[in-house]
Amino acid sequence: MSNAEKKANWKIFLVALAVTLFSLFLSLLVTYIVTHILHGYMNPTSVVIATIVPTIVAGPVTWVIESYRRKAKDALARLQLVKDELEHQANHDTLTGILNRRSFIAGIADKPDGVLISIDVDHFKRINDTYGHAAGDVALVQITQAISNAVRESDLFARLGGEEFAVFANDASYENAKDLAERIRLAVNAVDFLPEDGVRHELSVSIGSAFGSESKDFDAMVAIADQRLYCAKENGRNRAVFPDASDLKQVA
Ligand code: GH3
Ligand code: MG
Ligand code: MG
Repeated sequence: MSNAEKKANWKIFLVALAVTLFSLFLSLLVTYIVTHILHGYMNPTSVVIATIVPTIVAGPVTWVIESYRRKAKDALARLQLVKDELEHQANHDTLTGILNRRSFIAGIADKPDGVLISIDVDHFKRINDTYGHAAGDVALVQITQAISNAVRESDLFARLGGEEFAVFANDASYENAKDLAERIRLAVNAVDFLPEDGVRHELSVSIGSAFGSESKDFDAMVAIADQRLYCAKENGRNRAVFPDASDLKQVA
């Protein structure tokens, strides 16, 4: 028996003892009052019965009830842990541990005025093809860490799937959002990804953006950001594409 089990049994024993003593006290008190009303005195047989019955019944019954109560409490605590774990799994990406697409969309549902930053790793397929899928996974984790360090506490950061990530910067000005995208780009460039001994493979991302003033609809914002991301790829990758500030003001 483990120490925790011994301790739990001791607690159950003390509860059973307390209930037994209390039952004994009540039993003797009631017997005393009733026999005094009926006979004017308490005879020895009444005392014996009033002592034996609660002692036999209260202790074991309390022990059984308390044991089941404790087991139920432990089971509930374990269920809560499983529920928390399942909730975490439903909202987070398994490989990187950051938010997944589902919770990202849910997280920005009530924040229409932010900036959506779409991020796609450049030539990622080459990494898998050259160093293997496991090395590709390591690169994704390292990229995630780098971007996590570059974003602000209030930003939402998620892996939308594959080698595609997104950041939602709430209440960011045009300049703030541009700075943020540049920090992300440089942070990924600085990652020390070493897929083989003595080999440092330079990583980069292309970035697209969409502003809440261009559209309030999430899917439309994704489409706008993806268009600019595509432009970033077309123009040589490792860059961020933003709309002209003047165009943005016209839309707003
Ligand atoms: P581009 O610069 O145009 O974005 O090129 P790319 O190679 O990054 O894009 P492409 O869409 O051709 O390839 C993406 C690759 O990402 C293909 C897929 O096998 C790989 N991939 C997707 N999810 C994972 C993953 O979880 N782990 C690993 N290791 N690879 C993944
Ligand atoms: Mg992609
Ligand atoms: Mg890519």
